[in-house]
Amino acid sequence: MISKKNLIFLGAPGAGKGTFSAMLLDKYPLVHISTGDILRTEIKNGTDLGKQAAALMEKGNLVPDDIVAGMVRDRLAKQDCDNGFILDGFPRTVNQADLLEEALQDIGRAIDRVVFFDVEDELILKRLTARISCKDCGEIFNKIFHPPQEEGKCDKCGGGLFQRPDDSLETARERLRVYYENTQPLIDYYSEKGLLLPITETQKELVFRKLEKELA
Ligand code: AMP
Repeated sequence: MISKKNLIFLGAPGAGKGTFSAMLLDKYPLVHISTGDILRTEIKNGTDLGKQAAALMEKGNLVPDDIVAGMVRDRLAKQDCDNGFILDGFPRTVNQADLLEEALQDIGRAIDRVVFFDVEDELILKRLTARISCKDCGEIFNKIFHPPQEEGKCDKCGGGLFQRPDDSLETARERLRVYYENTQPLIDYYSEKGLLLPITETQKELVFRKLEKELA
């Protein structure tokens, strides 16, 4: 049983953070906080923040630290986070990690574990460029590794499937570069705090079993 665990999912884009968040959420009462999903909703709703973020996201660049940290701070203060949460795609810089620590201290919460999905670049690029998701429920598929039963249609809700614009090969490469430059230092940051749980397996069932065992 995984409950009341405050988790960070760390790893390159396409390393499996979203996929394993969804698998855990199907089984355990955790709250999923994905800064990428929050930003995509802002873009869809045409807000000022969405407009500002869209230009950066299209190029594979990061949205400023204070903006994403503010979004996360607000979300973490909500009561449903008492059940535990998964931070997916945040923090992405050491500065964001420091801002997160401050925010958590203010509300009397702390991180229990940082799961690091360690996946090779070649597999990452293969996964990203073949990734498709449901426009209605957000379920993630992959044209090569996890195709939907019916082409272009979500197995879960029947919604239409689309490729994220930032999953093109060019932007995926840039996101990977941004990851190495900004996010990789967080591996040492959390390792020094004794919080890191590295996952080197890539086979879905094995990863899930390990997560359930280590996070229980
Ligand atoms: P993701 O869905 O996590 O792959 O995020 C998609 C895009 O949203 C990233 O490439 C960034 O442009 C932006 N983004 C998401 N999370 C963050 C974050 N923690 N810091 C800065 N930018 C972010």
